[in-house]
Amino acid sequence: MTDRTTGSATAKIEKRMITRLVRAACAARAAAYAPYSKFRVGAAVLTAEGAIHGGCNVENASYGATVCAERVAALGAIAAGARQIRAVAVVYDDHELAIPCGMCRQVLSEFGPAMLVIQANTRGEYVLTSLATLLPAPFVTIPMPAATKNPRRKT
Ligand SMILES: [Zn+2]
Repeated sequence: MTDRTTGSATAKIEKRMITRLVRAACAARAAAYAPYSKFRVGAAVLTAEGAIHGGCNVENASYGATVCAERVAALGAIAAGARQIRAVAVVYDDHELAIPCGMCRQVLSEFGPAMLVIQANTRGEYVLTSLATLLPAPFVTIPMPAATKNPRRKT
């Protein structure tokens, strides 16, 4: 498979783990809720702790409220306590190699700007790239001022 990763900051993940992530993304895709587009997507993220969290796209009658599989997977990992994501695998179907949309790239960058992105299909074919390649200039907030002391608290 092609490796399009660039830069030394990209997470190095064993091939066996890549295969596991692609399989987890395929399994997650089975639960996709896509009654409107019929476009079923699965994703799986690997946390710094080694946990794998899957996600599927969840559409909504109000189309703008639809959530992509990558964000469902990432946010599930964060809700479970993770704060760093090392890799994400995405699948749509048996021929296209999936790629995260811009909104997902931004959300993923919050938890691993150099994470490995595994663009895969349901046949297990994939290419590797890095999130830094797909989103070279993520939005980052300006440093927040130091938290002020709570005036009601007596300490
Ligand atoms: Zn997306």
